[in-house]
Amino acid sequence: MTTYFIRLDDACPKRDIRKWDQMEILLDKYHIKPLVGIIPSCEDPQMEHYPEDKAFWSPRVSAWQAKGWTLALHGFEHCYFTQEGGINPVNKRSEFAGLPYNEQARKIRHGYALLKQYGINPQIFFAPAHTFDDNTLKALQSETSIRFISDTPTNDVYVRNGFTFIPQQAGAVRSLPFKVVTFCYHPNTMQSTDFDKLENFIKTHTVSDFRLITTERRLSLYDKLLMKLYYWRHHG
Ligand SMILES: [Zn+2]
Repeated sequence: MTTYFIRLDDACPKRDIRKWDQMEILLDKYHIKPLVGIIPSCEDPQMEHYPEDKAFWSPRVSAWQAKGWTLALHGFEHCYFTQEGGINPVNKRSEFAGLPYNEQARKIRHGYALLKQYGINPQIFFAPAHTFDDNTLKALQSETSIRFISDTPTNDVYVRNGFTFIPQQAGAVRSLPFKVVTFCYHPNTMQSTDFDKLENFIKTHTVSDFRLITTERRLSLYDKLLMKLYYWRHHG
């Protein structure tokens, strides 16, 4: 049986509050706790036009935390500086991949410190555009206590380079024949049909509360094959 998780990307003061609220109401209705990626210091021009929510860090994020939602460090400024795909090359743009170690460590250090300042102690990281490289992992290792990554399209959770990877395979709900599946949603850009599809899936499948799964498992041949196919389909 598949364990399905929901992940919400791009939480920050400037967001589509109406859609985020709609998502929160939907998840609360079915008692589902998601993983939420918090951008510490958003400078992304695509989010610039949203009004700033003064109540974001408190009480909004603190309420998510109190409800048992898992909060992730989602990059630093959510801006793209390279055309690299790194070790999860699903996009050819990155805030991290391809940058020198010191530059990445600075971003991770500042982002982590900001979240801590806001009362969040993230245990998991995922990068904007899903792209990061070995230096990102090294920076997380030396600058933070984060040892979990949400991303990479594998069958199951695995350990690599001292990190536990919780796979993330799809941007919308569908039945998938894997052990652990994370669906990644961007509430800001969701349409009403996306909400309807999500609710229908929740009604007909068991969607679990996100949790940090610990394992000793390494990448299997099957996982490696799935990654290869996925990256090939995304980039050729
Ligand atoms: Zn993002």
